[in-house]
Amino acid sequence: MRKLEQGPLVIASHNQGKIRELRDLLQPLGYDLKTAGELDLSEPEETGLTFEANAELKALAAAKAAGLPAMSDDSGLAVDALDGAPGIYSARWAGPDKDFDMAMSLVETALEKQDDGNRTARFVSVICVAWPDGHREFFRGEVAGTIVHPPRGDQGFGYDPIFQPEGYETTFGEMAAEEKHGWTHGDSVALSHRARAFKLFAEQCLVMPNSDQPQ
Ligand code: IMP
Repeated sequence: MRKLEQGPLVIASHNQGKIRELRDLLQPLGYDLKTAGELDLSEPEETGLTFEANAELKALAAAKAAGLPAMSDDSGLAVDALDGAPGIYSARWAGPDKDFDMAMSLVETALEKQDDGNRTARFVSVICVAWPDGHREFFRGEVAGTIVHPPRGDQGFGYDPIFQPEGYETTFGEMAAEEKHGWTHGDSVALSHRARAFKLFAEQCLVMPNSDQPQ
C-alpha cells in the first residue's frame, strides 16, 4: 500500500457535498486540498462499468492533469433483486433534474415486479487515490439494509429515505448526519458506506501527523 504523504492533494470531484466531507476529514491532518474546480480540471465522463472503474478514471485523469496525487469517490445504491441496479447509474436514474422522488419510485416499481419479495440492498462507496505515475489504491465501503416503502425522512439526500440499514428502525433519511455516518458511536465504528470507505482510506493510506504509522 502506497502512503499518501502530507502535502497537496486534489479532490477529483465537482460535488460540493463530497468536497465538504473530505475537507473536514483531511484538512486537520495536514493535507493541502485543492479541488478539481479550483485547478480548472474538466470532469471526465463516467464510462466505467464498476464503481472502481469510475472512481479510477476520475482520480487518474485529475492526477495526470495536475501532476499531483488525487482522490475521488464513486457511490450508489445496489438492490439485490434488481441485480445491483441502479448501482453505478444511481445518479442517472434521477434524470437531468436530479429528481430523486422519481428515482425512488422507479426502484419501488421495479421491486414490485419481482416475485420473491426480496428487498435487501447495499449502499456502496469506492474511494480511489491515484498518483501522476499511474499508481492507484482503492478503498470500498458498504452498508447492508432494506428498501422500505413509502420513503421516510427528509434529512439526507438521494435514496436515503428508502434505505433502512440493518439493525436500525429508521431510514438514512430519518437520521442526522452524525448518526448516518456513525460518528455518534465514537471513532471506531462507521455506519454509512462513505464513512466506512473513508475509515479504511485513513487507516491504510494516510500519514498521521507526528507518526510513521496511521492509528
Ligand atoms: P456519484 O456522484 O457518481 O458517486 O453518484 C452517487 C449517487 O448515488 C448519488 O447521486 C445518489 O443518488 C446515490 N448515493 C450515493 N451515496 C448516497 C447516500 O449516502 N445517500 C443517498 N444516496 C446516495
